[in-house]
Amino acid sequence: MTRVTFTILEEQRALLQQSIFRDESEYAALLLCGRSRSRDAWTSEEEERIVAREIIEVPESAFIKRSPVGLTWSTAPFYQAVKRAEPQNFAVAVIHSHPAGYLRFSSADDIADKETFEIAFNRLESDRPHLSLIMTPDGRLAGRAYGPNLKPRPVDMIRVMGCRWRFTYPEVNTETARPAFDRQVRAFGQQSTLDLSRLRIGVVGCGGTGSAVAALLARIGVRHLALFDTDFIDETNLNRLHYSTRTDANLRRLKVDVLGEAIAAIGLPISVARIPHHVEDIEARDALKSCDVVFGCTDDHLGRNVLNRLAHFYFIPIIDLGLLIDPRSDGGYDAFDGRVTVVQPGSPCQVCRGLIKSDIMLGEGLRRKDPAVYEQRRRAGYVADAADPSPVVVTFTTEVATMAVNELFQRLNVFRGANGAASERVRRFDEVKEADLLPSGKSRPGCKLCDRRRYDGRGDMDPFLDTAS
Ligand SMILES: [Zn+2]
Ligand SMILES: [Zn+2]
Repeated sequence: MTRVTFTILEEQRALLQQSIFRDESEYAALLLCGRSRSRDAWTSEEEERIVAREIIEVPESAFIKRSPVGLTWSTAPFYQAVKRAEPQNFAVAVIHSHPAGYLRFSSADDIADKETFEIAFNRLESDRPHLSLIMTPDGRLAGRAYGPNLKPRPVDMIRVMGCRWRFTYPEVNTETARPAFDRQVRAFGQQSTLDLSRLRIGVVGCGGTGSAVAALLARIGVRHLALFDTDFIDETNLNRLHYSTRTDANLRRLKVDVLGEAIAAIGLPISVARIPHHVEDIEARDALKSCDVVFGCTDDHLGRNVLNRLAHFYFIPIIDLGLLIDPRSDGGYDAFDGRVTVVQPGSPCQVCRGLIKSDIMLGEGLRRKDPAVYEQRRRAGYVADAADPSPVVVTFTTEVATMAVNELFQRLNVFRGANGAASERVRRFDEVKEADLLPSGKSRPGCKLCDRRRYDGRGDMDPFLDTAS
């Protein structure tokens, strides 16, 4: 059966709340939403992910009757929205307020929704689902999806993504965390451990930082983990790649296999999807799109660029990690930094932060697609030489990994307080001073991704992530 989920930014949710809580009577609004269809990397189930893109306010004059427990309105605004949605294959979500705080659909809602979506499916060629949502005064959401049979089904997960990441599910949560996580629950309470057991988390790049991130995620109770890496283990990895052994290097085993097996052997309930493909490859796409959160542990600009765009098109936040050790010839360091950056709409993107360079990306792309041409152009001096392997030490890759996974905890349970989210955190390892929070960078004026925000919630598009532009 297809799983239907919905993702909205906290800023959009707050705008909607303003729009539909005007007085003590119900009110409604509409949303145009991008779509994402993918095959789940863990269950092979199909997921229809509906991503909020544009809020359409409904004028007061469109309502025929509004009361604290009911709403009658003209079908015109909805019809207009459906007309706009169709050419782009967007989904439409209808949302109304329940001022009395009832987070369930009423029998009046059942009748109204059926009529509304009948209009949609009579008109539309596509049989893909649309949504009906309700919001209570405390800002909570509940939703259901309608297909052409007009039989509603609960939305399987609602993600509200802001400084805090909130995930809700329709069933009442009575599951208690297992004894293995008892000490963690004593520190953080039960909710974040339960969230971790539900989330689908990707780790892109399984080297020094990636193997540490994956090991930590497994230990804190993540049950759906996807590992992305095309590389094989060799001798130079043994000093920092957690779980790697001499035998793995001799056999040149895939990093995702070695790490995946070791994590499964811990014995906690976890399913690891091993993806031996680059995130740019079509073979990696379903797994990537089925993640709720992705850790970017890759130092190639091509891969980082895919993740940067994914964060905007699909509202999948990226926790990107970096370690920069730059020794001077006279001793000392020009840089000795660990960095954790959270990429999501509302913060500067990785291009504007200067962490993705288009010339390096072009060189990497050419080397992947056409090594012979790359080699020719490199000799002729048209593309940069591949950089020497950068300095790296396992204690620091592991420390950056810990910073990154702790940022995930912050987003789930706000242990540093409501204002404790860090969109970029840099730790200077060569200074005695403790962790520094840097000002979080700026969007370049005109950046389509993070300044003009042309792609927020766009979802599926051909070409994928509109990478031609
Ligand atoms: Zn209602
Ligand atoms: Zn930008």
